[in-house]
Amino acid sequence: MEEAKHFIGGGWMACAANESIDVIDPSDGQPFARIARGHAADVETAVTAARAAYEGAWGHMSAAERGRVLYRLSMLIAACGEELAGLEARDTGKPLREARADAAALARYFEFYAGACDKLHGETLPYQAGYTVMTVREPHGVTGHIVPWNYPMQIFGRSVGAALAAGNACVVKPSEDACLSLLRVAALAAEAGLPAGALNVVTGYGAEAGAALARHPGVDHISFTGSPSVGALVSQMAAEHHAPVTLELGGKSPQIVFADADLDAALPTLVSAIVQNAGQTCSAGSRVLIERAVYAPLVERLAAAFGALRAGPSARDLDCGPLINAKQRQRVAQFVDDAKRDGVRLAAQGEIAADAPHRGFYQAPTLFADVPPEHRIAQEEIFGPVLAALAFDDEPHALALANGTRYGLVAGVWTRDGARQLRLARRLRAGQVFINNYGAGGGVELPFGGTGRSGHGREKGFEALYGFTTLKTIAIRHG
Ligand code: NAD
Repeated sequence: MEEAKHFIGGGWMACAANESIDVIDPSDGQPFARIARGHAADVETAVTAARAAYEGAWGHMSAAERGRVLYRLSMLIAACGEELAGLEARDTGKPLREARADAAALARYFEFYAGACDKLHGETLPYQAGYTVMTVREPHGVTGHIVPWNYPMQIFGRSVGAALAAGNACVVKPSEDACLSLLRVAALAAEAGLPAGALNVVTGYGAEAGAALARHPGVDHISFTGSPSVGALVSQMAAEHHAPVTLELGGKSPQIVFADADLDAALPTLVSAIVQNAGQTCSAGSRVLIERAVYAPLVERLAAAFGALRAGPSARDLDCGPLINAKQRQRVAQFVDDAKRDGVRLAAQGEIAADAPHRGFYQAPTLFADVPPEHRIAQEEIFGPVLAALAFDDEPHALALANGTRYGLVAGVWTRDGARQLRLARRLRAGQVFINNYGAGGGVELPFGGTGRSGHGREKGFEALYGFTTLKTIAIRHG
């Protein structure tokens, strides 16, 4: 079995402690690779390499040249899309077509941020006579990126793409459960001409390599994507050395369906928004709130759709793949069991393909109806293919239910009433609101982030560049 190493200072580097972690294929539960188990010593080497790049070749490169390097990287990613998708599908268990879409999105992130490098500028400000005042946007320096396992390529693209475009040097700690694609991308970045040390990938466990990165005093900014509990820990560690933090955390996002909506258009989106990546999506539409006049018939149609869904190995490319690991499988099964025990109505359940390896981490897509709003399956992020349907009486009731969790990431609204569309868009507690769609195709141009337990700060789009820079005001008194 090939032993992976860290990618530090422009090349492969063995783990200081010479320890490794088995990589498990979620489709069959079997190990198929090994990654390095990084510790503080490896993080130290990576941060030192990043600092040297920032103060050296990378930091001195013009914005236009930075853009050319990132553009070359986007082309290399596109050329290797099939290989990257294969790695990601095996590592995460997601259906191959979804991994292909993730590889395409990664290429697009680098294309977008390549074009943005030389368009990030400050302003001149009118001030007292005798002064000229300007603002300049400067990189933070060394940025740390802690990435989860659900969308390694996409999350790396949106976070590292923007940080590099702004001129930072990056140290990435991917999830121990899925990091093979990102190690390959780091090698492609070197091939694209990224100076040594501008991008480093240290693998390992969160409590070891991740914590060492978050608390390293040489890291000037931390971008964390993951669970709310670990996000809080990372914030505390970064606060010890006053590093700013962007937190992209979980969600319990609602889709609100009014009786006047185009239900035929809504139906497939209500299903795909929770089944994509087996529900392991921060922005998953995990609650559907339906106006009572159409509640029973729409739940019936949803039940028919859920009953026809199948989960199976990533290579089979079915409706969904397995969950990421045994712990996650057990966690999701516990939510389902709790709901059944509490008498919540199980409206439909899909199937696990008959030929799915029995050691894989499968969960059949599940629809619960008439879910009490306070029940944990209506309140907590399950991170599995489990949809909770609830009825509402009128617009204020819908809004109260939608805003009635501690999260605030995404919301979807389905209605033909234009005034209602705007009213809800403004009143929903969410970082993104989608009207008569959900996710808008995930465009890299669209700023993304949450509020409350979903985190703070924005990634994606041009907005991310502001988060990866700091603003300096320069006042010149010339008389
Ligand atoms: P997680 O919090 O367990 O792990 C995320 C990353 O943090 C991993 O790289 C992990 O190794 C690292 N980590 C774990 N413990 C750490 C510690 N003590 N110190 C430093 N780093 C540590 O999350 P996960 O289970 O990998 O991902 C699922 C979660 O991520 C869900 O809650 C999901 O909603 C969220 N998520 C959010 C977004 C978003 O954009 N808002 C996107 C994807 C996933």
